[in-house]
Amino acid sequence: MSERTVIALGGNAISPAGKAGTAPEQTANLHRAMAQVAELVAEGYTDLVLTHGNGPQVGNVLIKNDLARDVVPPVPLDWCVAQTQATIGFTIANTLSFELQQRGIERPVVPVVSRVLVSRDDPAFQEPTKPIGPYLNDPVEIARRRDAGEDLVEVEGRGWRRVVPSPRPLACVDRPAVDLLLADGAIVIANGGGGIPVVDDGDGPLHGIEAVIDKDLAGSLLAKEIGAATFAILTDVPGVAVAYGTPDQRWLEEVSVEELRGYEVAGEFTVGSMAPKVAAVREFVDRSGGRGMVAALDDARDALHGTAGTRVIRGHDG
Ligand code: ADP
Ligand code: MG
Repeated sequence: MSERTVIALGGNAISPAGKAGTAPEQTANLHRAMAQVAELVAEGYTDLVLTHGNGPQVGNVLIKNDLARDVVPPVPLDWCVAQTQATIGFTIANTLSFELQQRGIERPVVPVVSRVLVSRDDPAFQEPTKPIGPYLNDPVEIARRRDAGEDLVEVEGRGWRRVVPSPRPLACVDRPAVDLLLADGAIVIANGGGGIPVVDDGDGPLHGIEAVIDKDLAGSLLAKEIGAATFAILTDVPGVAVAYGTPDQRWLEEVSVEELRGYEVAGEFTVGSMAPKVAAVREFVDRSGGRGMVAALDDARDALHGTAGTRVIRGHDG
């Protein structure tokens, strides 16, 4: 079982729904999640990489940017992602180290500030789709942002919201560092918030770019790049459902790449929430032949044992 495992944690594992998301609240929530992760390590999933979302956290940094823009210079989106990787990475490392020690396990837990390469030619840059930051209702503020070049979309009943490009992750720039740390026995936290999006213009250092990479797709790519045997996305529902939210709703248990692809084409999965998770897991299984799953955080152990969650497998001709 000392095969590499990559676990992606959703925003709900970090910022409890319906709460303000104060530092103590986020810490307590992450601590609960890390108790589960420590159990997995104790059980033998020792070569572990964690990745995590950062939506609410980046949203808060953006609000500070806006409120303080006449006092201190606003920071670009790639810096916002870097900041959230640091604070969430610190909190995960701190709580997971403690939970491991409680179980007599001494392992370094190392957050890596990680960059992920994207392409300027990605069509996402022509059509921003990823909503970030607060809902806006003040016409003056909306006009100011439009003038500043932000793309905004109206969300029925809630107001306007900034949208940014969500390009495909092409390569994990800091994968060599992740490999070194794993080889030396560390548990690694990487590609938080989908990674810091960078482009290579060939004119000097990589450039950070105004975009947000989907954390599930970035996790999938990292799992493939490090040769993981298992990629597990842990979220707040028991797995992937078809006919979700209807009387015909059915949770998928074991499903082949081909069958899943069929459901994707039929539009079964919500854009921006379940669709990227399904694509991320399917691509991992398809490209690497490893195990992929989507499960509730509380079912992590059972999902890894094959008795909970949605497990994606290669089909007969796969
Ligand atoms: P995370 O924050 O963990 O990344 P998201 O909120 O982005 O999670 O996605 C998980 C959510 O996707 C669930 O809470 C559920 O409401 C929603 N969802 C949409 N379609 C489906 C589906 N077909 N099956 C299961 N959940 C779905
Ligand atoms: Mg969520």
